[in-house]
Amino acid sequence: MISNFLPRFGEITELVKKGATLEAQQKILELQATVLEIQQENIFLKEKVSKLEESLKTHEEILWESPNYWRVQGENKIGPYCQHCYDTSKTLVRLQGNGEDWWECKSCKNTYGHAPYSSSFVVGPSRNSDVSDFGF
Ligand SMILES: [Zn+2]
Repeated sequence: MISNFLPRFGEITELVKKGATLEAQQKILELQATVLEIQQENIFLKEKVSKLEESLKTHEEILWESPNYWRVQGENKIGPYCQHCYDTSKTLVRLQGNGEDWWECKSCKNTYGHAPYSSSFVVGPSRNSDVSDFGF
């Protein structure tokens, strides 16, 4: 939290004009400390924005196909991912399969069936499309 008290440049200038250099130096130090706080908060906020942007991008790529989530990037369908882990913590945990349509999450230990693996697919024209198909 940045302190509410921020020395003004005019205040420092007046102190220097009056010859009160010690007081002016104190105000400059206070100003430097405040600038440092602002820089640290700026770094924190930039990191937070970056994480939120990444989370939003991931959320936009998520496709629900019961009983699992998939991540769609262009024409690639990646996954499957654990429904429980994504719903509870927004964490994408790739499921591990046994090759017989049986999948396990190594994080929460939930198991899923009937989610055949597909490394890529073609996104159909009606998916996420607002364009009507009335032949206009
Ligand atoms: Zn899980």
